[in-house]
Amino acid sequence: TIGMIAIDVQQQIHVGTSTNGARFKIPGRVGDSPIPGAGGYADNEAGAAVATGDGDIMMRFLPTLLAVEAMRSGKTPGQAAEASVQRILKRHKDFSGAVIAVNRLGEYAAACYGMSEFPFMVSSPLQGTQMETVKCL
Ligand code: ASP
Repeated sequence: TIGMIAIDVQQQIHVGTSTNGARFKIPGRVGDSPIPGAGGYADNEAGAAVATGDGDIMMRFLPTLLAVEAMRSGKTPGQAAEASVQRILKRHKDFSGAVIAVNRLGEYAAACYGMSEFPFMVSSPLQGTQMETVKCL
């Protein structure tokens, strides 16, 4: 899955997702990526989040909605992304995935589980584009 978060010049925050889905998926499977709150969620008042990974597990927890609501209640993007992953981990120690969270100021972080690290791209007009990597929980 590719999950994208963008803040435009009017400070509107957006998410988009694109995926080929899970390997060996059954025909007709929708998966988590196009489901608001699962694959992505955005709210100008709080921020936005996108998720990738084992959608059949992750979509039961609406991890991107959880992350955005955590930022609304005052958590940093890092705390919000981690809390979202931890919520899934409480029930599914075998899942693999990542959540990226961005607040309305453009501060961002990612949290992941089930791999050693997770790379993601960050781009801004002032700093250009670079890859960042976060160590997984
Ligand atoms: N979340 C996607 C799915 O389960 C897969 C992925 O993120 O690679 O359809």
